[in-house]
Amino acid sequence: MIVRKFGGTSMGSVESLAAVCRIVKSHKGKQIIVVSAMSGVTDTLLAATHAALAGKRTKVKKVIADLLIQHVETLQSTVKDKKIQTETINYFEKVLAGLSGFLKAIEELGELSVRSRNTIMAVGERLSAKMLAAILTESGSSSEQLDFEKAVPRTFKKADHEFYIATEKIFAKRVRNVIAKKKIPVVTGYFGWVPGGMLDSVGRGYSDYCAALIAAGVGAKSLEIWTDVSGIFTADPRKIKKAQIIHQISSEAAAELAHFGAKVIHPQSIHPAIRAKVPVWIKNTFAPKDRGTEIRHKIENPKQVMTSITSKKGVTSINIASFRMLLQYGFLAKIFNVFAKYEIPIDVVSTSEVSVSVTIEDDYDSKLPEIIKELRPVSKITVYPKKAIVCLVGMGIHRRRGVAGEVFAALGKAGISIDQISQGASEINITFVLDEKDADRAVALLHKKFFENGYR
Ligand code: ADP
Ligand code: ASP
Ligand code: MG
Repeated sequence: MIVRKFGGTSMGSVESLAAVCRIVKSHKGKQIIVVSAMSGVTDTLLAATHAALAGKRTKVKKVIADLLIQHVETLQSTVKDKKIQTETINYFEKVLAGLSGFLKAIEELGELSVRSRNTIMAVGERLSAKMLAAILTESGSSSEQLDFEKAVPRTFKKADHEFYIATEKIFAKRVRNVIAKKKIPVVTGYFGWVPGGMLDSVGRGYSDYCAALIAAGVGAKSLEIWTDVSGIFTADPRKIKKAQIIHQISSEAAAELAHFGAKVIHPQSIHPAIRAKVPVWIKNTFAPKDRGTEIRHKIENPKQVMTSITSKKGVTSINIASFRMLLQYGFLAKIFNVFAKYEIPIDVVSTSEVSVSVTIEDDYDSKLPEIIKELRPVSKITVYPKKAIVCLVGMGIHRRRGVAGEVFAALGKAGISIDQISQGASEINITFVLDEKDADRAVALLHKKFFENGYR
């Protein structure tokens, strides 16, 4: 049994859905399909919640009408069977009527609860999964949409390890019920009820994670993440033309890349699959014969020093200087506790003798005044907005001395200054913080230096 997840672009058009169909049909054994919403739909749904909050009723109505047209037109271009067509369109209308009701309630109440946001976000995957199930069934591969919007009981208070283990079991049971009917399950790559809400506890790109939980739950032979590029590259191939494919990458290196901006895979998604020893492959829906990238638990003695480079914009850097002019015992703990209290994840930390610098995503900037209020009595705080993190990941980086120095020299020569630098204890990455406006140039420059000149 294999699990295959198709991303937004793969679900996004009549042509790409035909490609998905061919890929599904090429596998003769058992398979479970997990899908994202059609590309752009999750963004549209989130924008609709903001429009509802702002009382923009006409905009909300247009969003719903457009979503119906988009899904119905795609369906009608691919499914000719009238019975399947009618049943599927009725479902679209029912789901979108529900969405309309939710958005109206948000507008009237003037507030958006985590629960309603969850229900609204789920709409994208519920529609796309229903559509693909119809397309596959019409093409002769009997399939059934499996809606995980309410799959998990509300009893869990925290999205912790225990929650995810329980979730894996629930998912496995539900997909097996469909397989027992000799049908292909087409699962919504969205699952509720996640304590804290899907957006805050898991984040965008959650369908990768959903697929990995299913793969772990059923003990799949492999997990395939089908997307719009032929695997993980040495840099984002849409930005760096000379980026090269990486055929094998360790789960640790893939997780570092994902965490620091390479959105080809969700950062947490690989863990459940890797823990369950399920090999993960990144494959290209539009070039299915390409080999893709295999993510393995460990790669012994990787040939190359450098693996990939990535960047994450929209970062704020905060420098916290101790009044006592030295980082005495307990000072770091105090700082981290304050960030933990406000549930703000810290990405990069670097310390000097007198100060600590941390970075946070600028989505959390609104919580900064509280943080400053709490830390001010013991420190002097300076906030630097509009920063970016650039992360150089190398499975063999530990073999090469002086990489940080080389980075400094290369960027310095180009007039780019580095504010902060940090090397992970695992010694597979070097991360630095710089001005957001310099990020793309820094990535291009370092890619050239470390990946295009035989250095790898
Ligand atoms: P999907 O909708 O299929 O989940 P995503 O948009 O989430 O697809 O992820 C695929 C995108 O990730 C690619 O189009 C590519 O631009 C981007 N990306 C960023 N960094 C990398 C990288 N190092 N290798 C491959 N793709 C990358
Ligand atoms: N549709 C969701 C998103 O855009 C989930 C995903 O694509 O993985 O974030
Ligand atoms: Mg994605």
